[in-house]
Amino acid sequence: MSQYEMGFTTSIVQADRIAGVPHGGVHQAIHTSTQFGFEKVEDLIGVFQGAVKGSFNYARQGTPTTAALESKITQLERGCGTVCFSTGMGAVAAVFLTLLKAGDHLVSSRYVFGNTNSLLGTLRDLGIEVTLVEPTSQAAVAFALRPNTRMVFVETIANPGTQIPDLPAIGELCRDAGVLYVVDNTVTSPALFTPRNVGASLVINSLSKTLGGHGAALGGSVTDTGIFDWSRYPNIFNSYRRGDSTYWGLQQIRKKGLRDMGASLSSQQAHQIAIGMETLALRVQRSSATAMELARYLREHPGVAAVHYPGLEEHPQFETARQWFGACSWLLSFDLRDVGTMTSVLNALKIPIKATGLGDTRTLIIPVAPTIFWEAGAETRRDMRIADGMIRVSVGLEDATDLLEDFEQALTKVGAISNPKRNTSC
Ligand SMILES: *Cc1c(COP(=O)(O)O)cnc(C)c1O
Repeated sequence: MSQYEMGFTTSIVQADRIAGVPHGGVHQAIHTSTQFGFEKVEDLIGVFQGAVKGSFNYARQGTPTTAALESKITQLERGCGTVCFSTGMGAVAAVFLTLLKAGDHLVSSRYVFGNTNSLLGTLRDLGIEVTLVEPTSQAAVAFALRPNTRMVFVETIANPGTQIPDLPAIGELCRDAGVLYVVDNTVTSPALFTPRNVGASLVINSLSKTLGGHGAALGGSVTDTGIFDWSRYPNIFNSYRRGDSTYWGLQQIRKKGLRDMGASLSSQQAHQIAIGMETLALRVQRSSATAMELARYLREHPGVAAVHYPGLEEHPQFETARQWFGACSWLLSFDLRDVGTMTSVLNALKIPIKATGLGDTRTLIIPVAPTIFWEAGAETRRDMRIADGMIRVSVGLEDATDLLEDFEQALTKVGAISNPKRNTSC
């Protein structure tokens, strides 16, 4: 049975053993060498010239431990190869900066991770044109495409508003236009969604979130799904236009991105992330189920003006989520009716940790406007539909009843419940 035929969790817990680890180890070892030596100088030369494949040279470009993690992510994303980075932003920056150049046009969802949004500003300063679009509308994305458009970038479930792009329709547009389709799968993770199924060319994951899963390691990855025809992409350097064109894009990302920009993942962190990934599907199923319960509870609460969660029937992209995602993830947000109660509600909560970060085993909670979207400014917040009273929750693995009781006592205690007009059923 090939690894692609096995179930998701079977394949990931067996991956190292199947690949063959010395001494019958069930994990790839943590390789700490920063350089790798050769008996014969011809082999050393061969590694530099790309003639000797699969060998390691200097750890900035990878080690056996990071390579094992890359092959596991490739398998989960059903791709043809992966390059890992020290953070998710390292991966996002490498994709933009190695594949785009001045005069190119990038179409991006207007609902992207705050630091990605900030990076788009840097791209503009470098002479790359950036158009932000409403990604839930196929027509809006189609309208934004120009002759110099090279890439369309979206996230699966936007943080914090949970908007979901028209993922399959954008895939078709990109295919017809011969444009790269880059999907940031961080919030859904490969346990809930395979971007390859909607025609994505490259898939980005922040390994610091769901994949690592325990708030204990930073990492990022870029996976090539094998769909895009790199032989037609103008921005591939001549030195990477050799051999099978399937690998040209990733080769350029590894050399120009990882090697030259240096956001390299350490073996220790790669190992930590690989262990975390073994329980990925179990964690995501549990946290998604609890998030669904919490969303239903908050929706009925009179102190809450709106709940943003794709598992709720009234969510504008409920159908897309139902059709394409195995569940709706651990990310939800809600708007308090009375912004004045926000500090008291958050301080009254005992279980959720008041912290930034996502996809941890612990529930994390943060008021959005005064923190992660503060630097973006009021105008951007309005464009991204971030209300002043918006609270983001990253649901962890705690028992659902404990979490619901905690929210109940916190909302009641501070009187966020005091709107008599709201008609509730419970
Ligand atoms: C966190 C995050 C990133 C960046 O990942 P880091 O590992 O924190 O650098 C990118 N995209 C999304 C959607 C994220 O949530």
